[in-house]
Amino acid sequence: MLTNLPARVTITEVGPRDGLQNEPAPVPAVAKIAFINALADAGLTQIEATSFVHPKAIPQLADAEEVCRGLPSRAGVTYSALAPNLRGYDRAAACGVRRVAVFTAASETFARRNINMSIAESLSAFEPVLRAARGDGVSVRGYVSTCFDCPYEGAVDRRRVLEVVRALLDLGVDEVAISDTIGTAAPTDVVATVGYVLQHVPRERIALHFHDTCGTGLANVVAGLELGVTRFDASAGGLGGCPYAPGAAGNLATEDLVYLLERMNISTGVDLRKLVAAARGIHEAIGGGFPSRQMRRLEAGRGT
Ligand code: MG
Repeated sequence: MLTNLPARVTITEVGPRDGLQNEPAPVPAVAKIAFINALADAGLTQIEATSFVHPKAIPQLADAEEVCRGLPSRAGVTYSALAPNLRGYDRAAACGVRRVAVFTAASETFARRNINMSIAESLSAFEPVLRAARGDGVSVRGYVSTCFDCPYEGAVDRRRVLEVVRALLDLGVDEVAISDTIGTAAPTDVVATVGYVLQHVPRERIALHFHDTCGTGLANVVAGLELGVTRFDASAGGLGGCPYAPGAAGNLATEDLVYLLERMNISTGVDLRKLVAAARGIHEAIGGGFPSRQMRRLEAGRGT
Protein backbone atom coordinates (compact mmCIF):
# COMPACT_ATOMS: atom_id res chain seq x y z
CA MET A 1 0.00 0.00 0.00
CA LEU A 2 1.16 3.55 -0.84
CA THR A 3 4.23 2.22 -2.61
CA ASN A 4 3.45 3.44 -6.11
CA LEU A 5 2.56 7.08 -5.57
CA PRO A 6 2.99 9.70 -8.30
CA ALA A 7 5.79 12.26 -8.01
CA ARG A 8 3.48 15.09 -8.92
CA VAL A 9 -0.22 15.91 -9.00
CA THR A 10 -2.13 18.56 -10.92
CA ILE A 11 -4.77 20.39 -8.94
CA THR A 12 -7.67 22.10 -10.65
CA GLU A 13 -8.77 24.91 -8.37
CA VAL A 14 -12.55 25.26 -8.58
CA GLY A 15 -13.19 27.71 -5.75
CA PRO A 16 -13.94 30.80 -7.87
CA ARG A 17 -16.62 28.87 -9.81
CA ASP A 18 -17.87 25.81 -7.94
CA GLY A 19 -17.25 27.47 -4.61
CA LEU A 20 -18.67 30.92 -5.18
CA GLN A 21 -21.68 29.74 -7.17
CA ASN A 22 -22.91 28.08 -3.98
CA GLU A 23 -22.31 31.04 -1.70
CA PRO A 24 -25.46 33.01 -0.95
CA ALA A 25 -23.67 36.34 -0.51
CA PRO A 26 -22.84 38.24 -3.68
CA VAL A 27 -19.12 38.78 -4.18
CA PRO A 28 -17.94 41.78 -6.23
CA ALA A 29 -16.05 40.95 -9.42
CA VAL A 30 -13.03 42.82 -8.12
CA ALA A 31 -12.86 40.50 -5.09
CA LYS A 32 -13.15 37.45 -7.36
CA ILE A 33 -10.32 38.71 -9.52
CA ALA A 34 -8.17 39.36 -6.45
CA PHE A 35 -8.95 35.83 -5.24
CA ILE A 36 -7.98 34.26 -8.57
CA ASN A 37 -4.78 36.28 -8.70
CA ALA A 38 -3.92 35.17 -5.17
CA LEU A 39 -4.53 31.55 -6.18
CA ALA A 40 -2.18 31.91 -9.13
CA ASP A 41 0.38 33.61 -6.87
CA ALA A 42 0.18 30.55 -4.61
CA GLY A 43 1.19 28.36 -7.54
CA LEU A 44 -2.09 26.98 -8.83
CA THR A 45 -1.91 26.55 -12.59
CA GLN A 46 -5.43 25.33 -13.42
CA ILE A 47 -8.06 27.71 -12.13
CA GLU A 48 -11.73 27.46 -12.98
CA ALA A 49 -12.67 31.10 -12.89
CA THR A 50 -16.41 31.26 -13.54
CA SER A 51 -19.36 29.89 -15.47
CA PHE A 52 -21.08 31.11 -18.61
CA VAL A 53 -24.43 29.61 -17.77
CA HIS A 54 -27.44 31.88 -18.12
CA PRO A 55 -27.09 34.67 -15.54
CA LYS A 56 -30.59 33.92 -14.24
CA ALA A 57 -29.57 30.32 -13.48
CA ILE A 58 -26.62 31.33 -11.31
CA PRO A 59 -26.84 35.04 -10.43
CA GLN A 60 -23.65 34.72 -8.35
CA LEU A 61 -21.68 34.30 -11.58
CA ALA A 62 -23.51 36.85 -13.73
CA ASP A 63 -20.28 38.86 -13.83
CA ALA A 64 -18.47 36.13 -15.79
CA GLU A 65 -17.37 38.51 -18.57
CA GLU A 66 -16.08 41.10 -16.14
CA VAL A 67 -14.10 38.48 -14.20
CA CYS A 68 -12.57 36.87 -17.28
CA ARG A 69 -11.66 40.18 -18.83
CA GLY A 70 -10.07 41.28 -15.56
CA LEU A 71 -7.65 38.36 -15.36
CA PRO A 72 -4.10 39.06 -16.47
CA SER A 73 -2.62 36.38 -18.68
CA ARG A 74 0.14 34.57 -16.81
CA ALA A 75 2.65 32.11 -18.17
CA GLY A 76 1.81 28.58 -17.08
CA VAL A 77 -1.63 29.46 -15.71
CA THR A 78 -4.83 28.34 -17.44
CA TYR A 79 -8.13 29.95 -16.52
CA SER A 80 -11.18 27.93 -17.45
CA ALA A 81 -14.92 28.51 -17.38
CA LEU A 82 -18.05 26.41 -17.59
CA ALA A 83 -19.83 26.61 -20.92
CA PRO A 84 -22.98 24.48 -21.00
CA ASN A 85 -23.95 25.28 -24.58
CA LEU A 86 -22.82 27.15 -27.66
CA ARG A 87 -24.16 30.44 -26.37
CA GLY A 88 -22.08 30.06 -23.20
CA TYR A 89 -19.10 28.95 -25.23
CA ASP A 90 -19.31 32.01 -27.47
CA ARG A 91 -19.43 34.29 -24.44
CA ALA A 92 -16.41 32.55 -22.93
CA ALA A 93 -14.42 32.59 -26.16
CA ALA A 94 -15.17 36.29 -26.65
CA CYS A 95 -13.44 36.93 -23.33
CA GLY A 96 -10.36 35.00 -24.39
CA VAL A 97 -11.06 31.85 -22.34
CA ARG A 98 -8.84 29.03 -23.62
CA ARG A 99 -10.32 26.15 -21.63
CA VAL A 100 -13.98 25.44 -21.04
CA ALA A 101 -15.91 22.78 -19.15
CA VAL A 102 -19.18 21.04 -19.94
CA PHE A 103 -21.18 19.24 -17.30
CA THR A 104 -23.60 16.37 -17.11
CA ALA A 105 -24.36 13.59 -14.63
CA ALA A 106 -24.34 9.84 -14.22
CA SER A 107 -27.83 9.93 -12.71
CA GLU A 108 -30.76 10.67 -15.01
CA THR A 109 -32.86 12.34 -12.33
CA PHE A 110 -30.00 14.53 -11.20
CA ALA A 111 -29.30 15.61 -14.78
CA ARG A 112 -32.94 16.59 -15.29
CA ARG A 113 -33.13 18.50 -12.03
CA ASN A 114 -29.72 20.16 -12.30
CA ILE A 115 -29.43 21.02 -15.98
CA ASN A 116 -32.99 20.43 -17.14
CA MET A 117 -31.92 17.88 -19.75
CA SER A 118 -31.61 14.14 -19.96
CA ILE A 119 -28.04 12.84 -20.05
CA ALA A 120 -28.42 12.10 -23.77
CA GLU A 121 -29.78 15.59 -24.43
CA SER A 122 -26.86 17.13 -22.56
CA LEU A 123 -24.36 15.17 -24.61
CA SER A 124 -26.06 16.38 -27.79
CA ALA A 125 -25.92 19.95 -26.51
CA PHE A 126 -22.16 19.59 -26.02
CA GLU A 127 -21.50 18.60 -29.63
CA PRO A 128 -21.51 22.13 -31.06
CA VAL A 129 -19.42 23.33 -28.10
CA LEU A 130 -16.79 20.68 -28.81
CA ARG A 131 -16.85 21.48 -32.51
CA ALA A 132 -16.36 25.19 -31.92
CA ALA A 133 -13.68 24.58 -29.30
CA ARG A 134 -11.78 22.29 -31.64
CA GLY A 135 -11.86 24.96 -34.32
CA ASP A 136 -10.57 27.59 -31.90
CA GLY A 137 -7.93 25.37 -30.29
CA VAL A 138 -9.73 25.65 -26.96
CA SER A 139 -9.46 22.62 -24.65
CA VAL A 140 -12.53 21.11 -23.00
CA ARG A 141 -13.03 19.28 -19.73
CA GLY A 142 -16.18 17.33 -18.88
CA TYR A 143 -17.79 16.98 -15.48
CA VAL A 144 -19.85 13.97 -14.51
CA SER A 145 -21.88 14.72 -11.39
CA THR A 146 -23.28 12.12 -9.00
CA CYS A 147 -20.85 9.31 -9.88
CA PHE A 148 -21.31 7.56 -6.55
CA ASP A 149 -24.62 8.57 -4.99
CA CYS A 150 -27.52 10.63 -6.32
CA PRO A 151 -29.74 12.56 -3.90
CA TYR A 152 -32.80 11.30 -5.84
CA GLU A 153 -31.83 7.83 -7.03
CA GLY A 154 -29.40 6.61 -4.39
CA ALA A 155 -26.39 4.50 -5.37
CA VAL A 156 -25.24 5.03 -8.95
CA ASP A 157 -24.21 2.07 -11.11
CA ARG A 158 -20.53 2.24 -12.05
CA ARG A 159 -21.39 0.99 -15.55
CA ARG A 160 -23.49 4.11 -16.01
CA VAL A 161 -20.54 6.23 -14.90
CA LEU A 162 -18.30 4.54 -17.46
CA GLU A 163 -20.86 5.07 -20.23
CA VAL A 164 -21.04 8.79 -19.59
CA VAL A 165 -17.26 9.14 -19.20
CA ARG A 166 -16.76 7.35 -22.49
CA ALA A 167 -19.41 9.41 -24.24
CA LEU A 168 -17.65 12.61 -23.17
CA LEU A 169 -14.25 11.34 -24.31
CA ASP A 170 -15.78 10.25 -27.61
CA LEU A 171 -17.12 13.78 -28.05
CA GLY A 172 -13.57 15.07 -27.70
CA VAL A 173 -13.15 16.30 -24.14
CA ASP A 174 -9.56 15.86 -22.99
CA GLU A 175 -10.32 15.21 -19.33
CA VAL A 176 -13.32 13.97 -17.37
CA ALA A 177 -13.88 14.94 -13.75
CA ILE A 178 -15.60 12.11 -11.91
CA SER A 179 -17.50 13.94 -9.22
CA ASP A 180 -18.88 13.00 -5.82
CA THR A 181 -21.45 15.78 -5.88
CA ILE A 182 -23.02 15.11 -2.48
CA GLY A 183 -19.80 14.00 -0.82
CA THR A 184 -20.95 10.64 0.47
CA ALA A 185 -18.36 8.33 -1.12
CA ALA A 186 -15.74 6.43 0.86
CA PRO A 187 -12.46 4.96 -0.44
CA THR A 188 -14.10 1.59 -1.12
CA ASP A 189 -16.55 3.36 -3.45
CA VAL A 190 -13.69 5.14 -5.19
CA VAL A 191 -11.88 1.88 -5.78
CA ALA A 192 -15.07 0.18 -7.01
CA THR A 193 -16.22 2.93 -9.40
CA VAL A 194 -13.05 4.74 -10.46
CA GLY A 195 -11.08 1.50 -10.51
CA TYR A 196 -13.69 0.09 -12.86
CA VAL A 197 -13.60 3.14 -15.15
CA LEU A 198 -9.80 2.95 -15.27
CA GLN A 199 -10.02 -0.57 -16.64
CA HIS A 200 -11.42 1.04 -19.78
CA VAL A 201 -10.12 4.62 -19.87
CA PRO A 202 -6.54 5.94 -19.62
CA ARG A 203 -5.87 7.37 -16.18
CA GLU A 204 -4.41 10.56 -17.72
CA ARG A 205 -7.91 11.44 -18.87
CA ILE A 206 -9.49 11.21 -15.43
CA ALA A 207 -9.68 13.82 -12.68
CA LEU A 208 -11.41 13.29 -9.36
CA HIS A 209 -13.68 15.89 -7.84
CA PHE A 210 -14.45 15.18 -4.21
CA HIS A 211 -16.58 16.91 -1.65
CA ASP A 212 -15.95 16.75 2.06
CA THR A 213 -19.55 16.60 3.26
CA CYS A 214 -18.88 13.49 5.34
CA GLY A 215 -15.18 14.12 6.02
CA THR A 216 -14.09 11.50 3.49
CA GLY A 217 -12.58 13.83 0.89
CA LEU A 218 -8.90 13.26 1.67
CA ALA A 219 -9.35 9.54 2.23
CA ASN A 220 -10.92 9.38 -1.23
CA VAL A 221 -7.95 11.26 -2.69
CA VAL A 222 -5.61 8.63 -1.26
CA ALA A 223 -7.75 5.93 -2.84
CA GLY A 224 -7.48 7.80 -6.14
CA LEU A 225 -3.70 8.06 -5.82
CA GLU A 226 -3.56 4.34 -5.20
CA LEU A 227 -5.40 3.87 -8.48
CA GLY A 228 -2.81 6.01 -10.27
CA VAL A 229 -4.91 9.15 -10.72
CA THR A 230 -2.85 12.35 -10.74
CA ARG A 231 -5.53 15.00 -11.26
CA PHE A 232 -7.67 16.27 -8.42
CA ASP A 233 -10.09 19.14 -7.99
CA ALA A 234 -10.36 21.23 -4.86
CA SER A 235 -11.70 24.57 -3.69
CA ALA A 236 -9.62 27.06 -1.71
CA GLY A 237 -11.07 27.59 1.73
CA GLY A 238 -13.41 24.66 1.13
CA LEU A 239 -15.76 27.13 -0.55
CA GLY A 240 -19.10 25.86 -1.76
CA GLY A 241 -21.56 24.11 0.47
CA CYS A 242 -23.29 20.91 -0.44
CA PRO A 243 -26.62 21.96 -1.97
CA TYR A 244 -28.22 18.75 -0.66
CA ALA A 245 -26.89 19.08 2.87
CA PRO A 246 -27.49 22.65 4.04
CA GLY A 247 -24.84 23.78 6.48
CA ALA A 248 -22.44 20.99 5.55
CA ALA A 249 -18.92 21.34 4.28
CA GLY A 250 -18.64 21.48 0.51
CA ASN A 251 -15.77 20.93 -1.87
CA LEU A 252 -12.61 19.43 -0.55
CA ALA A 253 -10.42 22.35 0.62
CA THR A 254 -7.40 22.91 -1.62
CA GLU A 255 -5.11 23.69 1.30
CA ASP A 256 -6.00 20.41 2.99
CA LEU A 257 -5.30 18.58 -0.26
CA VAL A 258 -1.98 20.40 -0.72
CA TYR A 259 -0.91 19.59 2.82
CA LEU A 260 -1.68 15.90 2.35
CA LEU A 261 0.09 15.61 -0.99
CA GLU A 262 3.20 17.55 0.00
CA ARG A 263 3.45 15.58 3.23
CA MET A 264 3.37 12.43 1.09
CA ASN A 265 6.22 13.85 -1.02
CA ILE A 266 3.93 14.42 -3.98
CA SER A 267 4.69 17.74 -5.61
CA THR A 268 1.82 20.19 -6.19
CA GLY A 269 3.75 23.36 -7.01
CA VAL A 270 1.57 25.20 -4.49
CA ASP A 271 2.79 27.32 -1.57
CA LEU A 272 0.55 26.34 1.34
CA ARG A 273 0.91 29.59 3.27
CA LYS A 274 0.09 31.73 0.26
CA LEU A 275 -2.88 29.48 -0.46
CA VAL A 276 -4.18 29.86 3.09
CA ALA A 277 -3.84 33.63 2.72
CA ALA A 278 -5.89 33.46 -0.50
CA ALA A 279 -8.53 31.37 1.26
CA ARG A 280 -8.68 33.84 4.13
CA GLY A 281 -9.10 36.72 1.71
CA ILE A 282 -12.14 35.21 0.04
CA HIS A 283 -13.62 34.09 3.37
CA GLU A 284 -13.48 37.73 4.44
CA ALA A 285 -15.06 38.82 1.17
CA ILE A 286 -18.01 36.44 1.64
CA GLY A 287 -18.22 37.19 5.34
CA GLY A 288 -17.62 33.74 6.73
CA GLY A 289 -17.51 30.18 5.56
CA PHE A 290 -15.99 27.14 7.17
CA PRO A 291 -12.26 27.50 7.78
CA SER A 292 -10.42 24.48 6.47
CA ARG A 293 -8.18 22.39 8.68
CA GLN A 294 -5.06 24.11 7.32
CA MET A 295 -6.60 27.55 7.77
CA ARG A 296 -7.25 26.75 11.41
CA ARG A 297 -3.82 25.26 11.91
CA LEU A 298 -1.67 27.84 10.15
CA GLU A 299 -3.65 30.86 11.24
CA ALA A 300 -3.27 29.71 14.83
CA GLY A 301 0.46 30.21 14.26
CA ARG A 302 1.44 26.59 14.64
CA GLY A 303 3.61 24.53 12.39
CA THR A 304 4.51 25.15 8.81
MG1 MG B 1 -17.98 20.58 -6.39
